[in-house]
Amino acid sequence: MFTVESLNEAKIAENPVLGGMTQMDHEKVLFCQDKATGLKAIIAVHNTVLGPSLGGTRMWPYASEADALTDVLRLSRGMTYKSSLAGLNLGGGKAVIIGDSRKDKSEALFRRFGKFVHSLAGTYITAEDVGISPKDIEYINMETPYVAGKPTYLGGTGDPSPVTAYGVYMGIKAAAQKAYGSDDLHGKTIVVQGVGHVGEFLVEFLSKEGALIKIADIHQDRLKEVESKYSGVTIIGLDEVYTTGCDIYAPCALGATINDETLDLLKCDIIAGAANNQLKVESVHGMAVKEKGMLYVPDFLINAGGIINCYAEVKGTDVEHARMKTEQIYTTALDILNRSEKENTPTYIVANKMAEERIERIGKVKLSY
Ligand code: NAD
Repeated sequence: MFTVESLNEAKIAENPVLGGMTQMDHEKVLFCQDKATGLKAIIAVHNTVLGPSLGGTRMWPYASEADALTDVLRLSRGMTYKSSLAGLNLGGGKAVIIGDSRKDKSEALFRRFGKFVHSLAGTYITAEDVGISPKDIEYINMETPYVAGKPTYLGGTGDPSPVTAYGVYMGIKAAAQKAYGSDDLHGKTIVVQGVGHVGEFLVEFLSKEGALIKIADIHQDRLKEVESKYSGVTIIGLDEVYTTGCDIYAPCALGATINDETLDLLKCDIIAGAANNQLKVESVHGMAVKEKGMLYVPDFLINAGGIINCYAEVKGTDVEHARMKTEQIYTTALDILNRSEKENTPTYIVANKMAEERIERIGKVKLSY
């Protein structure tokens, strides 16, 4: 059984391919190369016990092949945990294309990549990630049906941000229930850091419930637009995010915002937002948050709306099904917060364990036929 805690970085550095795969317990890794199109890609299938592996393709100018491999191994493993915890019948996979998304894209490159995805015969289903546009997805889809999160004009479910924001809203309400004995957010002061795709939809949910929302973003035009559209919204400066008083901090921009510096400043009861990898160093800051008495809703649970949306597309179910699945984030978050208190363990560890336990349980069910 794989566990998140067992990684040994030194050993992975010695044997980065099979060593990394063994430590993180990957099923298979496909290295893809095509001189004609300049394609260099790696597809990692982490675990398919629950179902086909699903995760986006990232296009990034990695400094080295080793960096690309580490990224795809970690990201694909993360997808296994995310889907398991969200109760989906999906495994974890991810792909990286080594290249500059502003210079190195072509129709031929993505179609060649699509053929590699197809060669995995559905054990890996791809989607959008950093550096990949709907147009690129359209090219990939010309060569393989194993694509999810497609734009609506390709018959997909389109922008996942509203569903993601709904999941974040559910996670915030669950944490409020735990912290205050009521999930009513009326009058609660909530800082939303980043009012992009997810952030704005989250502000809409919170505003409707009468929360007092403080927003920060690097783009002034976004701030003005969101402030004018919703009631109860005030603009704060980028650094004020950590110093202004609030009940709930919702990071919806960058990762690693929970770190030594910010934890010295932050005074809130709850941290719950959409950003990926919020804890700078999981083992350090996951514990630090707990010791400060703050409730942290693990990012890979609360932002699972995107993968839930993809799942609806793969299964051919409707938006209502995705909404219901996303609503379950409330129950799971509350369960994790309760277990964290009972077991005196950081929430991210509880969440990892729950994801592993489900894979173990369902794996046994599958063995029996
Ligand atoms: P986005 O790019 O649309 O929005 C991010 C916003 O954050 C932008 O408005 C940007 O200007 C702002 N921002 C950047 N740096 C900032 C800073 N230092 N301080 C304050 N604001 C800053 O992205 P998104 O789709 O809304 O996603 C937000 C986060 O949620 C990302 O971390 C993303 O990985 C994660 N996420 C998104 C989805 C989804 O469905 N879109 C799903 C899962 C996770």
